Amino acid sequence: TGLVVAMDGPSGSGKSSVSRGVARALGLRYLDTGAMYRAVTWWMLRQEVALDDPAAIAARALEPVLTMGTDPGAPAVAVDGTDVAGPIRTAEVTSAVSAVSAVPEVRRRLVAEQREIIGAGGIVVEGRDIGTVVAPDAPVKIYLTASADARAARRSAELAGTTVEAQKAAMARRDTLDSTRKTDPLAMAADAVELDTTALNLDEVIAEVLRVIKE
Ligand code: C5P
Repeated sequence: TGLVVAMDGPSGSGKSSVSRGVARALGLRYLDTGAMYRAVTWWMLRQEVALDDPAAIAARALEPVLTMGTDPGAPAVAVDGTDVAGPIRTAEVTSAVSAVSAVPEVRRRLVAEQREIIGAGGIVVEGRDIGTVVAPDAPVKIYLTASADARAARRSAELAGTTVEAQKAAMARRDTLDSTRKTDPLAMAADAVELDTTALNLDEVIAEVLRVIKE
């Protein structure tokens, strides 16, 4: 099928688990665009590019070669042939990624690659700007939300050694950095279906998204 499902929302809204579950249920591919921003950030840190210098980031934005796997059962991300699925989830990358994703040259490059991967469709695409920028013509757009407490609790359950309060502060900081840009990637597409997941478990959210898709 040529179906494209755009799945946007802030961190901790459950995007990844929901997107993978929906892709598996429908036999679609899956693309985690956040992993692409994280992979570029991981590479910039390794190259010791000054992340407080947008021009330095822009100058090297095209250098790292990304390879994305789109199997929802085994999402894969490699940089210059090295598997970075683990390293891109560290606190170091998480706290640096907003500075890198704010650079227009980085966004231009990754949006082009994302459109290439989406190709003829048959894919669930997870991110912040999928329904607005990457795939504005997607026939299904979902915007997941959850209360700040629920999002922080989910994130700290995933990460060892953090408290809900610390997570809440870190996520609020990243959301602010992510949303105070010229093109706000956290903005919801006007034609997206907003789904508040605060009181729902994973299976319930997946069922709700499948219902929206069938409509
Ligand atoms: O979804 P995830 O939390 O892994 O995304 C990491 C970061 O990548 C976000 O905080 C944001 O800065 C950036 N991002 C983005 N546009 C996307 C996906 C992620 O700017 N489509």
